[in-house]
Amino acid sequence: MYNSRKKPLEETPVEMTAIWSCTSETCNCWMRDNFALDAEPTCPQCQSEMVRGEKSLAVIVNSSFTHNKEG
Ligand SMILES: [Zn+2]
Repeated sequence: MYNSRKKPLEETPVEMTAIWSCTSETCNCWMRDNFALDAEPTCPQCQSEMVRGEKSLAVIVNSSFTHNKEG
């Protein structure tokens, strides 16, 4: 039987994140949509077109914004 209950296995939270991925089959380059400077970026490695996609990525925690918890 498959146990559907959540397991505390993944310590790093992940979420489906918008990305751009290279269309070249020989290139695995991709970038986060947040990091793309152009509306339709080209691959920084091979200058091929990039297509929108989604990838399950670790949530980026902005470490420059720190909370000081008391107690
Ligand atoms: Zn590429």
